[in-house]
Amino acid sequence: MTANDDLRQLVRTIPDFPRPGIQFRDITTLFGDAWGFGETVRRLAAAARDSDAQVVAGIEARGFILGGAIAAALGLGFVPVRKRGKLPYQTIGRDYELEYGQDRVEIHVDAIASGARVLLVDDLVATGGTALAAVELFRSVGVEVAAAMFVIDLPELGGAELLRQAGVPVTSLFAFAGH
Ligand code: AMP
Repeated sequence: MTANDDLRQLVRTIPDFPRPGIQFRDITTLFGDAWGFGETVRRLAAAARDSDAQVVAGIEARGFILGGAIAAALGLGFVPVRKRGKLPYQTIGRDYELEYGQDRVEIHVDAIASGARVLLVDDLVATGGTALAAVELFRSVGVEVAAAMFVIDLPELGGAELLRQAGVPVTSLFAFAGH
């Protein structure tokens, strides 16, 4: 056993979803476990205590579940980073490239004050494209990303490394090989 293997074994792997060759790391089985969900939140919240973050931002959709719980554990507010066209008020956004096509992350213009420090949360980092777009979006309005946190890292895809190169401290609880 290595650190966090007790949580790692609660993640279900679905081969060839949503496309052939992708090993989908299904975190719903970890979230659905009464001990596993709370313990995941406790371990990430403990790692976040030193980051001096003033607010937590979660990336749609599984980042909402985790980020909301971490924010509550830390006594902080929560800001959703949503995909294109979902937020009702005025937004600012950032486009990013997917393997096939483009996507966009958005926040409300008044969601976080310039100068604030945000903790960015998602379930999994793969290529890092989504998280990096969120980092660029926050930085474009003067918000500092104190740290980025994930439950799962897919290190072969290099996303965590890209984030670190961009100056963002990255924490993940455990990794899986491959895509
Ligand atoms: P990326 O922008 O490439 O880092 O992709 C990260 C986003 O895609 C996260 O929100 C993940 O939930 C999702 N994702 C990417 N690859 C996988 C995978 N193999 N299993 C589960 N979710 C994935």
